[in-house]
Amino acid sequence: MDWYNPSDTDIPKGHFIDGRFMSFNDDTSVDVICPSTGQAYAALNYASPDTVEFAVSQAYQAYRTNSWASMAPRERAKYLFQWAELIEKHQASLAQLESLGSSRPYHEVLQWDIPYVVDCLRFFAELADKHGGYVGATQQDRLGMVISQPYGVIGAITPWNFPMSMLMWKVGPALAAGNAVVLKPSEMTPFTSVYLAKLAVDAGIPANQFNVVQGDGKTVGQAICEHSLIGKVTFTGSTATGAAIMSTCALKGPKPSTLELGGKSPQVVFADADIDKTALTVAKAITGNAGQVCVSGSRLIIHQDIAETFSQKVLSHFSQLRMGPTWNKSTTLPPIISAGQAQRINSIVNQSIAQGAERLCGGELINDGGSFFTPTLLAITDNNNCAVQQEIFGPVLTMQTFDSDEQAWALASHETYGLAAGIHTQNLQRALTGMRQIEAGSVWINRYGRSFDHIMPTGGFKQSGIGKDIGVEAFQANLKTKSVLIDF
Ligand code: NDP
Repeated sequence: MDWYNPSDTDIPKGHFIDGRFMSFNDDTSVDVICPSTGQAYAALNYASPDTVEFAVSQAYQAYRTNSWASMAPRERAKYLFQWAELIEKHQASLAQLESLGSSRPYHEVLQWDIPYVVDCLRFFAELADKHGGYVGATQQDRLGMVISQPYGVIGAITPWNFPMSMLMWKVGPALAAGNAVVLKPSEMTPFTSVYLAKLAVDAGIPANQFNVVQGDGKTVGQAICEHSLIGKVTFTGSTATGAAIMSTCALKGPKPSTLELGGKSPQVVFADADIDKTALTVAKAITGNAGQVCVSGSRLIIHQDIAETFSQKVLSHFSQLRMGPTWNKSTTLPPIISAGQAQRINSIVNQSIAQGAERLCGGELINDGGSFFTPTLLAITDNNNCAVQQEIFGPVLTMQTFDSDEQAWALASHETYGLAAGIHTQNLQRALTGMRQIEAGSVWINRYGRSFDHIMPTGGFKQSGIGKDIGVEAFQANLKTKSVLIDF
């Protein structure tokens, strides 16, 4: 049974610039592949350098001349709330488009992604008039004020794993703070972004305030980052691409960037944890979206006394997952985004086994139209094993055991990444010690994963990123401060 018929999906065409869908003669057309079938389902126009130039200069003009940045912040918030309402109204079409083009199952988009996107937008809309500057302690015959103002045009580059949610992490705070935005979504999941941009205009947000240009990262993404009228770049994706973007921002600015990057997040489970609840949490944290989540809990670090019992419970949860297309009602394990990504997962798993990992289950790449990867558990003793060291971005969980708290914290800390961590124990002192010890931007105790509490910022330490998304910090990151001195 299917939620919808994929061939009945309307696909928006073109870039979204100047408040409308646009295509240009010098755009190159490229097939977009449906992850569930491995077949092309639409064509995408890649922006030429002229198109990028047009989109950025239109956004800059809009920022300089139209009412958005100078509008009363509460008025700006009103339009953002109207946008949120329209997103809710269009949720069925958006969910269909998102699930057709990505690995997100339709019912999960409806139950999770859309409410998340809408709540995120409302959170930032509410912040639009909840900030200010301060008066400095200057000498008495002078007034010194520190005020904030938008950057101007923010360049946003988003990935394919949660296309709408990642978009709203970037666009919500940028618009709420009064900026204009030029966004390039992943070329693999391009269509919900232009749909959302159209809804923004329908909600009354002025044309050109939020433009979307389609295309690949190496040319279109790069051109956005390089553009002299882009005041700041915000990005989510791989560490390597984040580093390339930061380097572009340094050379072509310098201009600031916010980078939310890869992870290799530990789930530390002590013998006193609630075993049944935690096994389910651990299984979900590595199989949700087929492991294609930056904060996937990909390293199980477990007390040796419970490793055998616990791993059996995790395996039992794995065995209940059903692969299938994102529109099928029974699908609980969606496809890998592309054949190339699936091959990459397969090759790391094979290499890990060759390096001594014991495969307790899974490890199979299944090509059934789309590419699927069976949930995999690898028991590993060597901390240098590639499956422990590299971000796999698939449903692959490594398991390492410990027999002392110190050993647990040592294993939990990763040389490269520091995005998130889970600690599962009934012992408060132990949990809080771990919370302090583990170098990660988010620590979750007796739970795993982000919540709808958008007040909680997210972002990584080490090579997992710089700066924060969501939270008040993400809003403030879209404003720069200006010092003003007035002599009496
Ligand atoms: P990338 O980081 O390369 O892609 C993310 C976004 O950046 C896409 O929109 C991409 O464009 C764009 N991009 C690529 N190169 C540049 C550039 N030089 N300048 C500006 N923008 C650029 O991720 P991949 O899709 O290649 O996935 C590779 C790995 O990255 C995954 O296996 C996973 O480990 C990690 N990843 C992490 C994510 C996270 O949430 N932290 C999300 C996605 C991937 P386009 O792809 O359209 O060419």
